[in-house]
Amino acid sequence: MSKPISLALVGIGKIARDQHIPSITGNPAFRLDAAVSRHGRVNGIENFEDFDAFLKARPDVTAVSLCTPPEVRFDMAAKAIAAGRDVLLEKPPAATIGEAEALASLARAAGVTLFSTWHSRFAVAVAPAKAWLMGKEIAEISIVWKEDVRRWHPGQAWIWEPGGFGVFDPGINALSILTALLDDPVIVNKARLEIPSNRRQPIGATLAMRSAAGVPISADFDWRQEGPQTWDITVKTNAGILRLSKGGSEMYVDDTLVESGPDREYANIYARFASLIETRTSDADFQPLRIVADAFLCGESVLTDEFHD
Ligand code: NAP
Repeated sequence: MSKPISLALVGIGKIARDQHIPSITGNPAFRLDAAVSRHGRVNGIENFEDFDAFLKARPDVTAVSLCTPPEVRFDMAAKAIAAGRDVLLEKPPAATIGEAEALASLARAAGVTLFSTWHSRFAVAVAPAKAWLMGKEIAEISIVWKEDVRRWHPGQAWIWEPGGFGVFDPGINALSILTALLDDPVIVNKARLEIPSNRRQPIGATLAMRSAAGVPISADFDWRQEGPQTWDITVKTNAGILRLSKGGSEMYVDDTLVESGPDREYANIYARFASLIETRTSDADFQPLRIVADAFLCGESVLTDEFHD
């Protein structure tokens, strides 16, 4: 077996602890050798508070996974690429399309691997859903993505700031599945963004979209849903109704469960990162980010009730 890839994890917060650490330590292709975080620590490896200090001290660490919020990701990614490291970006890949495209171009020029991850695309039922849709005529798609922000983003102030995405932080996961299912580009016709009067990013959003071929697509994103959470995509076709539920982990055809399985999203992300590094290739698809940007561009913003954590 070849030597494991030496990796650093950057931004030791919720997703780094919940998903990245177990997936890295469970994959023999990687060795977690360093962590970079101002407050978070990982036991048993070298910890840095400063990213520049890490790059300088550990040239032997050839790959980095950036789990910081999107608005601070560009500078770290650009520095890592310039230092010749292979880079994995948590979703969303950057705060703007310009940043994301600049990173892809810098990585190409430097000859390093850039992996812009969309974890929901690795949900167990997404590939089977794409296979089932092959050759069928799609009449309509509707997305309902409603969750409780207090449960999933407790006390995360950055998510309400410019560059934090608000309800599009989870909504972009649905858009990543949508764009994986469709070969056609998705166009935003209209959007309505509900912004709490004491915050700067939306708590709810509705989007009217269409595929380039004219299939109508609607999305309803809401962060105020308590109780059971809803992460559903329904696709009406000429041969039945496909429903992806629970964020892509269950697939139903005409209400019959045909696909489900254990969550392996992040395990599959690291398997893909290892194979991209081995083949010296990149995977940098920014379509979900572009749809969000378009919703902000053409959307109508309305003020709604204050939100308090
Ligand atoms: P988080 O708990 O706030 O962790 C992010 C970490 O980044 C912080 O702990 C912080 O660690 C570091 N950081 C560096 N600069 C920062 C800044 N200016 N503001 C705030 N934190 C900063 O967030 P998260 O939920 O892990 O989300 C991180 C990324 O993962 C986001 O892009 C999110 O969309 C994505 N993601 C999250 C989830 C989820 O369920 N939460 C799921 C999938 C993907 P230090 O203070 O120690 O530097």
